[in-house]
Amino acid sequence: CGIVGYVGHRQALDVVLGGLRRMEYRGYDSAGVAVLDGAGSLTVERKAGRLANLESALDTTGRDAFTGTAGMGHTRWATHGAPVDRNSHPHRDSSDRVAVVHNGIIENFAALRAELEADGVELTSDTDTETTAHLIARAYDEGATKGDLAASVRTVCRRLEGAFTLVVTHADQPDLIVAARRSSPLVVGVGEGETFVASDVAAFIEHTCEAVELGQDQLVVIDRDGYTVTDFDGEPAQGKPFTVDWDL
Ligand code: GLU
Repeated sequence: CGIVGYVGHRQALDVVLGGLRRMEYRGYDSAGVAVLDGAGSLTVERKAGRLANLESALDTTGRDAFTGTAGMGHTRWATHGAPVDRNSHPHRDSSDRVAVVHNGIIENFAALRAELEADGVELTSDTDTETTAHLIARAYDEGATKGDLAASVRTVCRRLEGAFTLVVTHADQPDLIVAARRSSPLVVGVGEGETFVASDVAAFIEHTCEAVELGQDQLVVIDRDGYTVTDFDGEPAQGKPFTVDWDL
């Protein structure tokens, strides 16, 4: 159960896999990555089992398909749905434009799932997480949140019950990543021309010691120049900056 997201100047796949490796000590049953190529495509690979399984799947597909400087990764500790490939994160909406990774449990997922199914959405996993990808994609396509990924994620977060760290990407927004938390950890790592989000500073201490801890019910937008924090209503908010003091 680890999450890492990256926007910067390096190849995101390398940074994300490095971060996942550093969080392996926490235990997990599946792993996955998503990379945005900046030209509107979002590429995902996910596999049950060890990170080595994911790495060989990446080699089979060809790592060139994962070229891009924004991306995210996940190690899963299954709570809803067996540890199989199709339940592994990232989860996507039906148009494959939104990708979500999640640690925690969405308590009201059954009601959200029923609502989506009643609207004709086909869910492809047994997870609580997948509902959020569809809801965010819908919010992004319509109404007051149209075209605004952070606003779309906030709208969906307000509907969620339970504990979550969510990291969200959209193929149309290749220069930013949105992350949100409730009762589950989320830290930002601030580098030079690169910014990280993670469930654990271990994911990025190799690259930066400057970190910001997010508070309860806060959302952060990261891009290569930095980060912006709000609450779930969109009001400006502040995380708690700290310097990681670890011997590597
Ligand atoms: N509840 C989610 C799932 O079962 C996330 C589990 C986790 O924290 O890794 O897929």
